[in-house]
Amino acid sequence: MNSLTSKIPNPNPSSLSPAVISSTAAAANSGSTACCSCRHQRRKCVSGCALAPYFPAGEEANFENAHRIFGVAKILRILELVAPDQRAAAMRAVIFHANARSRDPAGGCTRLISDMQRHIDRARAELHRINQQINCFEMQMAAAAANTLSDGAALDWGC
Ligand SMILES: [Zn+2]
Repeated sequence: MNSLTSKIPNPNPSSLSPAVISSTAAAANSGSTACCSCRHQRRKCVSGCALAPYFPAGEEANFENAHRIFGVAKILRILELVAPDQRAAAMRAVIFHANARSRDPAGGCTRLISDMQRHIDRARAELHRINQQINCFEMQMAAAAANTLSDGAALDWGC
């Protein structure tokens, strides 16, 4: 079970780990606060930059992966298409998809989904087997309580 759990990828790789937070802080302290997109395009990052909230300085890997898969124009188009309250979720999905594709160029998110589906199927099968055992043990206990074992010998219920 632990080996399976350890293989499940972090469902939210864009969450700020301490390393990312420290690198973000380092970038801020160095005076370079341009977002990754503006830095990539070598332009000044103005307040109100559409991509700055999602690709702040210090998160170059997220931007590079997203840029490689989608491109800046398409990311901006996605932001335009979704409602404002859905933009953060859309950008998390873009970053997750891009990072998954970067880690696994052939499988990407599809392999993650199929791996998780197999994990769910195995867990469901184990749950079914355990429920069958519980039912069997409960029937044994009920039979013992009713003293239905005529000769007192334990029957093999196959639990
Ligand atoms: Zn910017």
